[in-house]
Amino acid sequence: MTHAEPRPGLRDVEPYDSPQLDVPVRLNTNECPYPLPEGFRSDLAEAVRSADLNRYPDTNATRLREELASSAGHPVDGTWVANGSNEIIRELALAYGGPERAAVIFPPTYALHQRLWTLAFGSVKSFRLEPPFLLVEHDVKNAAELEPSVVFVCTPNNPTGNAQPLERIEQLAEETGALVIVDEAYVEFGGTTALGLIASHPNVVVVRTFSKAFALAGARIGYAFADPEVVEDLRRVRLPYHVSSLAQAAGITALKHRSEAEAILDDIRRQRDRIVKELEAMPDVDAHPSDANFVLFWPVKPAPDVWQQLLDRGVLVRDLTKIVPGSLRVSAGTESEVDAFLGALHEVLS
Ligand SMILES: *Cc1c(COP(=O)(O)O)cnc(C)c1O
Repeated sequence: MTHAEPRPGLRDVEPYDSPQLDVPVRLNTNECPYPLPEGFRSDLAEAVRSADLNRYPDTNATRLREELASSAGHPVDGTWVANGSNEIIRELALAYGGPERAAVIFPPTYALHQRLWTLAFGSVKSFRLEPPFLLVEHDVKNAAELEPSVVFVCTPNNPTGNAQPLERIEQLAEETGALVIVDEAYVEFGGTTALGLIASHPNVVVVRTFSKAFALAGARIGYAFADPEVVEDLRRVRLPYHVSSLAQAAGITALKHRSEAEAILDDIRRQRDRIVKELEAMPDVDAHPSDANFVLFWPVKPAPDVWQQLLDRGVLVRDLTKIVPGSLRVSAGTESEVDAFLGALHEVLS
């Protein structure tokens, strides 16, 4: 029996798993807590029924890209889609990464940036941010000195929740000369988009997703706005027919029902603000202000114990102690889910 050897270092990489536990209140992955509206479901069912699944999909996802482009006021040849924004980031890593190519990241931030970049053989330089986790001019200077190929910025940032100042992103684009990948997975909940920078700064890419505000995490659709030259580079690395007809139909249908998705954003923001306010009023917790649909907080008690005791009460949050010492992250759910979370936390901390 012979076991083949994978590439050097691969076995040091932990598989990425976000374990889902079957509990009544799941507030650990920042999904939309509401089911899809009935009108959307029946439109989607109709689109699926009439899809020609015996044929390959439109490899350029033209219609979906056109709809996205027109909704954002961005050229269609600078608009790209893939199976979730994670796939777009992987395509960007394939196109702009590789040996001898460095990316700058500002932890604590989304772990997938580093993971996908290093899987594409690039190296990573981290400049750690401290509370309030805002980029300052010195961070831009540090990044520029390194002459990186890529800079990752997540805004609003996961897991801290705060948005980054647009001027810093603009400065990064000007002073580093790198491709600045701006992950805007949560931009519908707050912060300012970097979309407007692209026309004057063609090294800025804005990456977004249908997984959060559009309530379509299960459909796997992400999109990006960039300079058309960057999109050409993505076309060089993507798989043929990479976005299925089903996912394209889901995206097109979701854009048609956009106003319904937007209507629930207010509810989610209200619950987020309520979480911050209630946590700040508790003596044994610190909470970080959030522009996203989740809140990072620090209980005085050890966070892993609090995580377990919340779980014992049927509430699942995310333990982020490995990324931000002592912290937990809770997604803004429905009003009753947030009631359950706050009630359980009061019990655990009293
Ligand atoms: C959830 C999330 C995504 C979404 O990834 P998809 O592949 O589109 O589901 C991207 N970036 C960040 C920072 C996220 O938190």
